[in-house]
Amino acid sequence: MKNHQLDYDFLSEKTNSYWLKSVHLPSFDPLNRSADADVAIVGGGITGITAAYLLAKEGLKVALIEADRLAGGTTGHTTAKITSQHGFIYDELIAHFGLEKAALHYQANQEALKWIGQLVKEHDIPCEYQELPAVLYAVTEKEAKKIDKEAKAYDKLGIQGTVTTSLELPLAIKKCACDAASGRVSSFDVSPFFNCGNCENGGVHL
Ligand SMILES: Cc1cc2nc3c(=O)[nH]c(=O)nc-3n(C[C@H](O)[C@H](O)[C@H](O)COP(=O)(O)OP(=O)(O)OC[C@H]3O[C@@H](n4cnc5c(N)ncnc54)[C@H](O)[C@@H]3O)c2cc1C
Repeated sequence: MKNHQLDYDFLSEKTNSYWLKSVHLPSFDPLNRSADADVAIVGGGITGITAAYLLAKEGLKVALIEADRLAGGTTGHTTAKITSQHGFIYDELIAHFGLEKAALHYQANQEALKWIGQLVKEHDIPCEYQELPAVLYAVTEKEAKKIDKEAKAYDKLGIQGTVTTSLELPLAIKKCACDAASGRVSSFDVSPFFNCGNCENGGVHL
């Protein structure tokens, strides 16, 4: 940390989730009776919620079963950014799986980004969604070399990006690669997914 010439003293030693503290999600009584459903999904994180939403949209009767608190697992502790840029991955993906599969991975991520943006609009989700460039930055010479490799991978995959040595962030940047097309959610409220007026217990089914 000292190399980065930053003062991290202000950070709390214990991690707290801003989302879990600031967002009110509905809670439900334990399911203590038999329930009919076409599909039962175990786990009310982003994976289960998304699957339940899509299946319910197709007309299936879905039961989403959560052991604890909806979005209270990993989902409630993310940075809530949505990007196709997950660290230095594309150079590695090309090396391990080839250009075609790496391109498919990028394409799938881009489609997911687009879909989430549409969903936010469709349900008018008050999540301060903004579309911004994604940036991968290096603060050491070793990492800066990885940026060069990653930039070459972007070129091969046709990912629009630029490499620069300056960034409007208080970081001692050596080099950074920007992916021009990305989005992020700075807070989230998934309650529109759960508000089902037809369910007797207000939202076990989606
Ligand atoms: C620190 C951190 C930051 C991250 N940042 C990002 C990010 O910025 N962007 C991004 O896209 N991804 C990010 N990720 C990854 C992303 O958060 C996870 O991939 C995603 O949240 C996983 O969602 P999930 O629904 O699969 O799992 P979870 O959110 O963990 O949900 C699983 C749920 O299943 C429930 N469950 C488990 N067993 C049972 C059972 N037997 N019966 C009933 N319920 C059960 C759990 O209680 C839990 O609620 C981050 C991850 C971490 C750790």
